[in-house]
Amino acid sequence: MSFDATLLANAAVSALRAYDPGHDLPTLRQRFGAALSELGSNENPLGPSPAAIAAAREAVGTMWRYPDPVGASLKRVLADRLGVETCQLVLGNGSHELLMLLAQCFADAAHSVVYSQFGFAVFPIATAAAGAQGIAVPALPSDHPEAPFGHDLDAMAAAIRTDTRLVYLANPNNPTGSSFGDAELEAFMACVPGHVIVVVDEAYHEYVDRPGLSTAMHLLDRYRNLVVTRTFSKAYALAGLRTGYLAADASIAAVLERLRESFNVNGIALAAAEAALGDEAHLGRVRDTNASDRAWLAGELVARGLRVFPSQTNFLLVDIGGDASALEARLFAAGVIVRPMGGYGLGQTVRISIGSRGELDRLLEHLK
Ligand SMILES: *Cc1c(COP(=O)(O)O)cnc(C)c1O
Repeated sequence: MSFDATLLANAAVSALRAYDPGHDLPTLRQRFGAALSELGSNENPLGPSPAAIAAAREAVGTMWRYPDPVGASLKRVLADRLGVETCQLVLGNGSHELLMLLAQCFADAAHSVVYSQFGFAVFPIATAAAGAQGIAVPALPSDHPEAPFGHDLDAMAAAIRTDTRLVYLANPNNPTGSSFGDAELEAFMACVPGHVIVVVDEAYHEYVDRPGLSTAMHLLDRYRNLVVTRTFSKAYALAGLRTGYLAADASIAAVLERLRESFNVNGIALAAAEAALGDEAHLGRVRDTNASDRAWLAGELVARGLRVFPSQTNFLLVDIGGDASALEARLFAAGVIVRPMGGYGLGQTVRISIGSRGELDRLLEHLK
């Protein structure tokens, strides 16, 4: 008897493909050592706050115990910072887990979920995992003056149906780097019916320096159907520990808690995240370094005749005017990892993280 479990996967999962990192990182690290430029995953080259590293080290001593199941201490610090109650917060093993959990808890085969054409890749996956129908709304045109390929909020509002339960927005968005302002979000929220939960993924919030864009957190009081997700993986540089959080109405948090895995955030991550929040000077250095290196890299790429999309994040989306996978392979052989965006249907573009100056210098050297 031949056995093939791929034929047994449920309908939604049959349509999905597994995440393909596209390369074997451990082997590459061995081969290139410190000369490897890892510019594919939007990690923070400055690393975490020394206080976070110290807290993580200390927490290692208690790893034989289960962590605090509710993450009370981290939640208190976050609640204080965000001006919300602790019962409005849910912690996740990365914000990816929370994005999945939202669809699992609020959508099923009877529902649709709205997101943007070039919105974050997890949105359609979360939708499929819940068995819901995804509605990918066409993005803004590539020649849009402020947000090429960005979210078309008017079209997204118009795409909402009576069976829609969730809308996923990323602000700023990955992989486009695009963003929309507070006023645009407010106008959007004003026309979303109350049975639709709007998730604003703010994974890159700490990097934002655009006037008129602060955070969706300010709207939580006014719109009880709003969810804001954040992560410690990007600006706080704790990607390897997997921690994120969301803030929402307490009733939304209560529903999510029913399905949240017990002990989903480990004790080392809880300790490191709390300490990272306390080191604002480090975060300031991260922001400043990213802003200046991002501007510098964009200038260098434009000078080489490439089109660079506006970015409010720690990466740049770059149109190379040709087949990006060929460029990726060439850079790859030289120990420079970038992320081609063919999977998003953006086959002429690559996404380049704002790595260290050494990493970026090597990129430019091999781009010639
Ligand atoms: C990186 C990223 C995340 C989350 O990452 P986690 O490590 O799971 O917290 C979420 N949304 C966007 C848009 C991202 O780019």
